[in-house]
Amino acid sequence: MMTYEMPVTGTDIWYYFICKREAWLMMRKIAPDNEDENMEIGRFIHEYTKKRGKKEVDVGHIKVDRLKKIKDEYVVQEIKKSAKFRESARYQLLYYLDTLRQMGIKAKGELTYSEEKKREEVVLTENAKKKLDETIDSIRKLAKQTTPPSPKKIKFCRQCAYKEYCWAEG
Ligand code: SF4
Repeated sequence: MMTYEMPVTGTDIWYYFICKREAWLMMRKIAPDNEDENMEIGRFIHEYTKKRGKKEVDVGHIKVDRLKKIKDEYVVQEIKKSAKFRESARYQLLYYLDTLRQMGIKAKGELTYSEEKKREEVVLTENAKKKLDETIDSIRKLAKQTTPPSPKKIKFCRQCAYKEYCWAEG
């Protein structure tokens, strides 16, 4: 018998590597308390995960910043503001590469960190694919938890839309 597997998105992967509690709250669609803070989620995603002024390319259910073909291989380019959330960016790109692989499209990835003017190649090796699958399993397990992980103070809390929810006293 086939078992239903919850779909995991690039956004889930992004937040998973920043804060598992935030990833849980987002996957459960628990909105922050007020509208201003809702805006913060949008702004954060916009600043770090999307290239301003550039149209994204839709490929199936994923959106990538740029897709170009060099000889017989595609290159997925993702442009990030900085390498501050490098792990999130790397795994999100691996997820895109794996999605393309499942569609029969051979591709490698390239991350550009615009502030640092640096580039990084991302390849879906066997080892990377194994780690990606483990991450997706862990995200599915996290989503099934009936309560969120406890809050842990990290640098990102200051700009997190859930900061009141996590840290309000009383
Ligand atoms: S405020 Fe901090 S602990 Fe709470 S969800 Fe945001 S990042 Fe995570």
